[in-house]
Amino acid sequence: MTSFTSTRWQDLTPHGIAALAARDAVAVLPLAAIEQHGEHLPLSTDLDIALGLVDAALARVSSDVPVVVLPALAVGLSLEHRHFGGTLRLSPETALATLVELGDCVARAGLRRLVLVNSHGGNKALVDLAALKLRAQWRMLVVRANYFRFPPPPGALPAEELRHGLHGGALETAMMLHLAPHKVRTDACADVRGLGHDMAERGLHLGPEGEAGFAWMAEDLHPSGTVGNALLASAELGERLVRHYAAMLAGLIGEARAFDLSRFDSSRGPGGHDRER
Ligand SMILES: [Zn+2]
Repeated sequence: MTSFTSTRWQDLTPHGIAALAARDAVAVLPLAAIEQHGEHLPLSTDLDIALGLVDAALARVSSDVPVVVLPALAVGLSLEHRHFGGTLRLSPETALATLVELGDCVARAGLRRLVLVNSHGGNKALVDLAALKLRAQWRMLVVRANYFRFPPPPGALPAEELRHGLHGGALETAMMLHLAPHKVRTDACADVRGLGHDMAERGLHLGPEGEAGFAWMAEDLHPSGTVGNALLASAELGERLVRHYAAMLAGLIGEARAFDLSRFDSSRGPGGHDRER
C-alpha cells in the first residue's frame, strides 16, 4: 500500500466497497469532455486535466481521509463544439441521466460523500442539476468542484487571459505542457483574440461569459474554435497551476469528509416523511 489511502473503485470487490462505506469514504468522480481544443491540444485535454488534478490532489489528501476514485465520465456536454471534428458528446438528457445514475450507484453502495471534479465549462449546468437531483433523493453531500471556478494563483496569468482565454488558451495549454507534454503541438500555439476580447475592448457589459453572458458556439468566439493566448503557456506555469488547483481540491476532499451529514437530517418530504431511501 502507498502512504495515502485512496483507491480506484473498479479495483475493489463488493467487500472492499462495503469496507470503504463503513469508513465513510469520500467518492471522487472526474468529469470531462472529449472535444476539439484547436490544433495545438488533443481532444483529451479536459480528461487529461481532470485526471491529472485528481491524481495530484490525492497525493495531498491527509492519510486518515479514505477516498475512492470512480472511473471518469470522459464524455460530457459539448454541443458548442459540434461543428469541429472529433468532438464526442452526450445529449443533455443522456448526460444528466448518466450522472444521476452513477451517483445513485454510489449512494446505494453506502457512500454519502461524492465530489464531482469537473474540468469542462460546458458541464457546469449538468453538474448543478445532477448534484441537486442526487441530494433531493439521498441524504448525501454532493460537491460541485469545477476547478476553473477556483480562484487562480495570484499573478499567474493576466486578468484579461483569465477572463477571455476560455478555450485552449494559456491555462489549459500550460497544464497540458506539465501533465502530457507529448500531446501538445507547441508549433501550433497562437495568441487568439476572440469575440469576448472585442466586446470588452468596446466597453460592453454584454459578452460570451461574465455576469450576463450569452450562449455561444465555439466558432462564435473565433473561427479556430479556440480563444486565448497559448503562447503564454509553459510547463513551469502548468506545474504551478496543477499544484495550486490540486491543493484546493485536496482541501475540499478533506472538508467533504469532515462535513456533518446530520445537517441534512431536517430534509423531509411534503408529508413530513424523511426522503432518505
Ligand atoms: Zn477544455
